Amino acid sequence: MVPRDHIVMLPFMAHGHLIPFLALARQIQQRTGFTITIASTKLNIQYLRSTISTDSNSQSLFNVRFAELPFNSTDHDLPPNSENTENLSLGNIGKLFHASISLKDPVLHLVNDIIHQEGKPPLCIISDVFFGWATELAKSVNTVNITFTTGGAYGTLAYVSVWLNLPHRSSDSDEFKVPGFPESYRFHRSQLHQYIRDADGKDLWSRFMQTQISQSCGSVGWLCNSVEEIEPLGFDLLRKYLRLPVWSIGPLIPPALLKNTSSSSFSFSKQHAGKRPGLTTEKCIEWLDLHGPDSVLYISFGSQNTIGLSQMMELAIGLEDSGVSFIWVIRPPIGFDMRSEFRDEWLPEGFEERMKQSKRGLLVRNWAPQLDILSHKSTGAFLSHCGWNSVLESLSQGVPILGWPMAAEQAYNSKMLMEEMGVSVELTRGSQGIIVGKEVKRVIELVLEKEGKGKDMRNKAVEVKKQLRAAVSDETENKGSSVKAMDDFVRTILSKSQEQAASIEV
Ligand code: UDP
Repeated sequence: MVPRDHIVMLPFMAHGHLIPFLALARQIQQRTGFTITIASTKLNIQYLRSTISTDSNSQSLFNVRFAELPFNSTDHDLPPNSENTENLSLGNIGKLFHASISLKDPVLHLVNDIIHQEGKPPLCIISDVFFGWATELAKSVNTVNITFTTGGAYGTLAYVSVWLNLPHRSSDSDEFKVPGFPESYRFHRSQLHQYIRDADGKDLWSRFMQTQISQSCGSVGWLCNSVEEIEPLGFDLLRKYLRLPVWSIGPLIPPALLKNTSSSSFSFSKQHAGKRPGLTTEKCIEWLDLHGPDSVLYISFGSQNTIGLSQMMELAIGLEDSGVSFIWVIRPPIGFDMRSEFRDEWLPEGFEERMKQSKRGLLVRNWAPQLDILSHKSTGAFLSHCGWNSVLESLSQGVPILGWPMAAEQAYNSKMLMEEMGVSVELTRGSQGIIVGKEVKRVIELVLEKEGKGKDMRNKAVEVKKQLRAAVSDETENKGSSVKAMDDFVRTILSKSQEQAASIEV
């Protein structure tokens, strides 16, 4: 029997990358029946397996192979989503970047095993943008490499271009231009993550990033977890910059988020409730049920970030003064072990008790069932670090965003959400960003107001929600842009594979 076509996937080992890779694997497999192998380190594979086994939507449909890759140092093999949150600090992400290079030889070994068993190379290797080495590796085994960016087109372009065009220092201004963006566009130094701010191309970070990203630019095309219609400028510019096909195949978020269901009736993320300390999904939903439509602010900074102690204080003061109801995913402040017992002195005296008594605010420790919260009708706005998954999840529910970007490409996402989409305002930036209770109150009220700017942002977010849903329509007469892009991607890799095979025979 001729073996099915096979795709090998190499996700970067962080929650915000693993989950979209898994969703991509599911989507490709459902559309084509190809065999998919996701290769990663032991703990990440365990996490992916557990995600599948606790997601009832996936079990019946989804059959993917996992390959465990050994790591040189177990220190680097961090679980993406465990109580061990201190491991997810940015310093450790740095170690992960560097350690990811050590996966090269085990991946080569894995691909050679596949060739040995199936008599032909995999159809392609889909790798994260941080695994640029996969491009050469793919060539060496007569297959092709596709880069998958788990971010949006605009944010990815800014991230890639900022790294590839160092340095960004200017004596007379904090503003700078980013190659690939229109002449009139200006970025600000405060939008740069600390690693890039003083990078000059010679330091370790620059050397790693520039090497991996520029090698990824040599792959035969990029897949992007976004939708053509929601960021036309981003896609246009990214294609021009890379001079490669870029397939917009998103949003890779749980399909239930793209249907008209409210979380009062079902639960998305039971799998998280048991893993992280904190309130159960049911408790959050029960609490949300007590509040009016579009009235609650949800606050979360993604899977890895937390804020500073004084920022935490000021945020609490602003929340209390605003009178707005909120759910806040709260973690120990920067500088504390993420597993530490929560201390009362991190918040204004009596804050939590007052919020509890008045049912004004719910503090959820460390990890909340984000999808259930965002899809609940009472959730009216999201104070977010603008991680791309959070952005897609929020907009898929028509929920506008209050931005507080922290790292990676989040500040560029935030800029795009404000300037191109009009669905967001920014509260502050980064762990050093200054926030004052009064300003927090003003911005929160602005986003949640029923008239004026708040209403405009909500209307625009609802438009984006419709575009996200239309993009995944699979009706024959009315195929969505992401479905068409996926079909085109599959056609392209099949034809590349035939070309490769023909060239080997000759
Ligand atoms: N998430 C969650 N509960 C939390 C925090 C995060 O379920 O309390 C999920 C969220 O739904 C999203 C992911 O973690 O899917 C975070 O990814 P994102 O790209 O937004 O940010 P990152 O964690 O990569 O910075």
